[in-house]
Amino acid sequence: MKDCIFCKIANKELPGNIVYEDEEVIAFRDINPVAPIHILIIPKKHIGKLTHIAKEDEAVIGRIYSIINNIAETEGINERGFRVIVNCGEEGGQVVEHLHFHLIGGRPLGAKICN
Ligand code: AMP
Ligand code: ZN
Repeated sequence: MKDCIFCKIANKELPGNIVYEDEEVIAFRDINPVAPIHILIIPKKHIGKLTHIAKEDEAVIGRIYSIINNIAETEGINERGFRVIVNCGEEGGQVVEHLHFHLIGGRPLGAKICN
């Protein structure tokens, strides 16, 4: 998708601090981390947001959770715990319109899910 910054990171038009990549999925460090570990995991296919997930995307979305597990292990936070967040749409606080999973950890995150 033209003008989508995450598509551009996925196809290497823009640099990203990439921690994982396969044919369908790429993960890179958030440019503005809210915790010591803040990684974004995205399908390379442009899916604008969670509500745009189609039947044909179900396998890759499921696989993303396994990838998140592997990254959490590599980053050394799988035992300590972490949070996975998907913001959807305007009131959900989504800024970048390419579906992404925030993997956040490396410090106690507290019990609040939102403020
Ligand atoms: P959201 O508010 O859920 O749409 O989250 C978008 C996230 O993308 C924010 O945490 C930003 O810091 C992050 N972000 C924006 N541009 C970049 C970029 N070029 N590389 C890495 N992360 C980015
Ligand atoms: Zn995109």
